[in-house]
Amino acid sequence: MTVANAEIAGELVAPLTAGPGWAEEVRRLARERDAVVLAHNYQRPEIQDVADHTGDSLALSRIAAASDASTIVFCGVHFMAETAKILAPEKTVLIPDALAGCSLADSITADELRAWKAEFTASGHPAPVVVSYVNTTAAVKAETDVCCTSSNAVEVVDSIPADREVLFLPDQFLGAHVQRITGRANLHIWAGECHVHAGINGATLTAKAQADPDADLFVHPECGCATSALYLAGAGAVPAEQVHILSTGGMLDAAKNTTKASVLVATEVGMLHQLRRANPEVDFRPVNDRAACGYMKMITPGALTRALVEGRDEVHVDPDTAARARGAVQRMIEIGRPGGGE
Ligand code: SF4
Repeated sequence: MTVANAEIAGELVAPLTAGPGWAEEVRRLARERDAVVLAHNYQRPEIQDVADHTGDSLALSRIAAASDASTIVFCGVHFMAETAKILAPEKTVLIPDALAGCSLADSITADELRAWKAEFTASGHPAPVVVSYVNTTAAVKAETDVCCTSSNAVEVVDSIPADREVLFLPDQFLGAHVQRITGRANLHIWAGECHVHAGINGATLTAKAQADPDADLFVHPECGCATSALYLAGAGAVPAEQVHILSTGGMLDAAKNTTKASVLVATEVGMLHQLRRANPEVDFRPVNDRAACGYMKMITPGALTRALVEGRDEVHVDPDTAARARGAVQRMIEIGRPGGGE
């Protein structure tokens, strides 16, 4: 093998960086295993570059379902690989490191969601409609009526009759964004958050925006600063037309069309690689250059090689859970533009 993997006591150790010939080796191994390699936008640049497809979580899962390959290697975090398995149950789905979790998905369990629903109806309310962001486990999706992404969360909530109570989870910032746009008083929001996005706060955004008043602002609605960005626009501190609240897929489209010399980006820093590739003329800068997701970065070049060589770690979703979760994802797709989520 040309890749610089070391063997210690028979265990293949995953190096952090790609050695010479690594990309060619990955392509060869993928062909041998009849595998398609998918990489989320927050992956390390070398993983994004070697993948067959790079994108956001839902778009990648739909590619997985449509692919002819018998094996999907999902370079992302665990709930994303689960979503691919839900949409492509007949395929083998591998994640290069099964410990790559997500603090947002972990902020609510299926038991907590069942207890929330029970508490809600016990207090005299009619049964609520449960809307879950796609950053949730398969078990939580199975307890959900309809999923949403950051691109279509407003559309999904708007599709629910106005007199129905809605439980929205798990992200409080995305929930606040939806509530602001829909003006809906009967939207109940779970207080979950992603530690990476919550760390991009309003004070940092304000300082960066004031230092570069001509720059466009691309803000992911899961960010702690999404509210601040809208406030800044409302207060006239930044012209409203410069503030764009966008999913990661939306950011890529906007990157291709921006006429600005510089753009401040408020989301996980891995996204910058795709934005710079999409429009090399523009200076894309992070609002917080320490906003890196440690879980995403667990997918190292060595871990990807190991996944292809050893066929691990395989992702399993129990068929009943998968069927119920699939219903929630499909209802979202039927509502319209599914967008891409994170
Ligand atoms: S950036 Fe946040 S929401 Fe995304 S995978 Fe990491 S922990 Fe989860």
